[in-house]
Amino acid sequence: MKKIKKSPWTKEQFANWYQQHPVLESRDYVKTIVPRIHALNERSDFIVEKYGEVSYKTNNQNSEPVKTTHDLFRILIGNFSQNKPCYLVIGGTHGYEKSGPLATLKFAEQDAKDLKQKFNIVIYPCLSPGPYEKELRFTEGRIDINRDAFLEGAKTQEMRAFSGSLKELHARIFKDNLTKKFTAAIDLHETPFMDIAIDKESAQAGGELFELDIFPKGMFLIAFDEDKTLGDKIIQQVRNEGHHVVDDNTLYGSPNHNGILLMSQMGSVTGRVRQLVKHYTTASFTTEYCDEYLTDETPDAERVEPQMAAIRGMFLSI
Ligand SMILES: [Zn+2]
Repeated sequence: MKKIKKSPWTKEQFANWYQQHPVLESRDYVKTIVPRIHALNERSDFIVEKYGEVSYKTNNQNSEPVKTTHDLFRILIGNFSQNKPCYLVIGGTHGYEKSGPLATLKFAEQDAKDLKQKFNIVIYPCLSPGPYEKELRFTEGRIDINRDAFLEGAKTQEMRAFSGSLKELHARIFKDNLTKKFTAAIDLHETPFMDIAIDKESAQAGGELFELDIFPKGMFLIAFDEDKTLGDKIIQQVRNEGHHVVDDNTLYGSPNHNGILLMSQMGSVTGRVRQLVKHYTTASFTTEYCDEYLTDETPDAERVEPQMAAIRGMFLSI
């Protein structure tokens, strides 16, 4: 990993960072994401629930910053009888990674109706609406919410809301029985072109750097060792649907097991969504769809379809 030594940013620079970025019309959360979520509420056995809200200070065309508040939603699909396996599908942990929200919603719109007889499904389409609509990896204060995913004591409003929502949902579905768990969860991520610029900015700000000397191409999965069998099915489904799986010898510097990076081999990491949800699930995965040419101008299907294949693969566990 390259380390570039520069003076870290001042507190003020971190505090002002979020406001300096404009909302992009093509990503407007209220106009492009929320209507699709509400439309799902009209379907039989689909229930949209608001699990919280997040407020951001944001620029309003050169005037004083204004407060923007966004609702956070989850979609419950199925009849939630306890004897059915229940799966979690999560998007928008990193706002700029557009395929997460788009793939979770398309999966809900297109695939979920055929799965709801056999399974219960909970979809979190967008954990961080503010960073989503500004095409940012980080939330206010330049904080990575996927480094803040803790059961208790998360710093960010997004993670406090998500963590509380999971706890409440688990208690409701499993009637406070902590020995019962969701069957599996998948948190959708991507590594696009923008990561190169983010890495440069992180080097200046004194933040975490990624090893992008070799830019991976295609899909890979981060899995707990005990979940590898299901992980293999997910990767196989991605291949079966004609998508590329990363074939480099290493993934982020760790061995590549046919498209899977095993948690035991990636060093000690904390505060990830896959680890937070693992408290409540039997299996838990992170997808990474990587393409150095992937930008917001790339046709959506290129990034959405591989993620859809991975979600479908998860439902092959039984
Ligand atoms: Zn990510």
